[in-house]
Amino acid sequence: MSLVTAAAFSDTLEAHLAKARIEDEGIACYISDQHIVSADWFLSGAVGGVKVQVAPGDLDAARKILGSPVAPPAAAAPEYTCPDCGSHDVQINSFARRLAFMFIVLAALPIPWRPMRCNACDHTWRPRRGSA
Ligand SMILES: [Zn+2]
Repeated sequence: MSLVTAAAFSDTLEAHLAKARIEDEGIACYISDQHIVSADWFLSGAVGGVKVQVAPGDLDAARKILGSPVAPPAAAAPEYTCPDCGSHDVQINSFARRLAFMFIVLAALPIPWRPMRCNACDHTWRPRRGSA
């Protein structure tokens, strides 16, 4: 099967990002010349860059995908919720943060527990493993 170049990039990372965007839309996609560019970046111009290639029938769709703006990532769900009032405005208790900092600085070890404090109602609690 012959492939056609949908886009070419000066470095491997950009090519892999483009490949991921194309594959995310269900189009098979390949990268060529990534190893020669990785071995010597100055050869990127000589070989035409790291090429993202697709089947000839997928070329227009792939170029359309790469030409469209990247969608912003969806907002992540809040990691912790106050069990008392349900607020998401919570933080690790400041004493635990100082203690963790001391452990990291003095012993290079993290503490296994992190008491949480709600900024809305001042409630403090210790989160269980696997629960928010
Ligand atoms: Zn609260």
